[in-house]
Amino acid sequence: MAYDPMNIFARILRGEIPNRTVMESAHTLAFHDIAPQAPVHVLVIPKGAYVDLADFSANASAEEITDFHRTVAQICAMTGLRPGEGFRAIANAGEHGMQEVPHYHLHLLGGRVLGRMLEKV
Ligand code: AMP
Repeated sequence: MAYDPMNIFARILRGEIPNRTVMESAHTLAFHDIAPQAPVHVLVIPKGAYVDLADFSANASAEEITDFHRTVAQICAMTGLRPGEGFRAIANAGEHGMQEVPHYHLHLLGGRVLGRMLEKV
């Protein structure tokens, strides 16, 4: 899938629409999901133009990948997603993953028991 620079997260990165930032680093932005599905629901996105996890993993630099995951670690420490209580990280991709926004993002969810990973459809 080609990257669409008009997607909503690209617009957030350009400052065209607001967000509730949790933290920002050189290559990564983390902000609260606008429609949280758990008491803690943070989206972590790379600042680079990557469509999904596969694109990011294949094409981002080592520095970007490290920065992204170090940011994830800091958010886990900051927002109550503590290992003792647990949390869930979700990266939806493409049609089968039902990805809505075509800019790679990792959902970090926690603050309650989240149920089983998948429901039968
Ligand atoms: P996905 O279905 O994995 O692509 O998830 C997209 C997520 O982006 C959803 O959880 C939306 O609630 C969230 N979202 C959409 N627009 C915004 C926005 N302007 N600010 C924060 N989160 C958003």
